[in-house]
Amino acid sequence: MKKESRILHAGRHPELFHGAVNPPVYHASTILHPSVAAMEASGRTPFDGVRYGRYGTPTTFAFEEAMAEVEGGGRCVATSSGLAAITGALAAFLGAGDHALIADSVYFPTRKFCDSVLARFGVEITYYDPRIGAGIAGLMRPNTRVVFVESPGSLTFEVQDVPAIAEAAHRAGAVVLMDNTWGVLNFQPFRHGVDVSIQACTKYVVGHADAMLGAITAREDLWHGIKTAIATWGHSPGAEELYLGLRGLRTLAVRLRRHAESALRLAQWLEERPEVARVLYPPLPTDPGHTLWARDFTGACGLFGVILKPAPKAAVDAMLDGYRHFKLGFSWGGFESLVIPTSGNAIVRTACAWQPEGPSLRFHAGLEDADDLLEDLEAGFERLRAGG
Ligand SMILES: *Cc1c(COP(=O)(O)O)cnc(C)c1O
Repeated sequence: MKKESRILHAGRHPELFHGAVNPPVYHASTILHPSVAAMEASGRTPFDGVRYGRYGTPTTFAFEEAMAEVEGGGRCVATSSGLAAITGALAAFLGAGDHALIADSVYFPTRKFCDSVLARFGVEITYYDPRIGAGIAGLMRPNTRVVFVESPGSLTFEVQDVPAIAEAAHRAGAVVLMDNTWGVLNFQPFRHGVDVSIQACTKYVVGHADAMLGAITAREDLWHGIKTAIATWGHSPGAEELYLGLRGLRTLAVRLRRHAESALRLAQWLEERPEVARVLYPPLPTDPGHTLWARDFTGACGLFGVILKPAPKAAVDAMLDGYRHFKLGFSWGGFESLVIPTSGNAIVRTACAWQPEGPSLRFHAGLEDADDLLEDLEAGFERLRAGG
């Protein structure tokens, strides 16, 4: 069965729920046990079956089963947000005296967790140039336990050579954790050497900008340690959020295709504009990451970057403020188009320079008609030229 068909069935067991097409939403904290003996037995294997709300209900298990299908294998642990999945997974592998290598292009809150929490707990952190590839071997230390990749970076869009990085990491005895939020269905982590794949399901899986949810999907042998860490930190997702994640999954493939088609059209159009210095979108043949993207990904999503030629801030602000469709808001992956400015100190780098030629922006192509979106961008450039 093709993957797009498999994710329609994944995690669904109508035979257990009176034939209902979708899994029921279990609102549960307390789970009753029929006897002391049963209660004691459940304590010996706390993650088998339903024991306490925080450890998961049938709604949780349905979502986890389905996410493992999205990632193409392994076993999943659901979390209360994408960031909880990242911090929980890092904390599952790292302790005082360990060393972690983190891509310089990571989602900023990931960096903040490394610097403000892991470093305080005695973990050594080194940031590396995301384009390092096999050269990461030169940064491995005897105590390097984790190599963290995010490809492409969600603000600067560098595509990483994940198989080359994974090979070097494994040779040195480290595990590879990946933020696969951009890849969603289109990067199969376990075929490219990743040990633990993390997604902010808040984005495309939920797909409607109405819930926070995360997922960690790991090689089977790593699952128990991760589940223990997440249960210990208490990062449990809510019942309605899990349901919205399951519901979003059923239309994920068609939505993604439309987001990616529109994004490509907008990116190609933007590339030709005199106001634009560069467009950051790996599906474009002119993107420096295009070759790696074409080798490792089976598709794209709606998120891309634009670097404008130098322009006054007031003019750029006027361009953004006046958009009809591209709304100003954080996050992405919902049905609606979004934009954020990424200039100034929005992008932090410590291992390699990030020097855009002019103001930088991040766009999300939503599900609106692409002609309407192009018209919106065109009118925006008139405001930019008018100077705000
Ligand atoms: C949004 C995002 C996250 C965090 O997800 P939340 O659900 O908002 O906590 C992690 N990684 C990337 C790449 C993201 O864009």
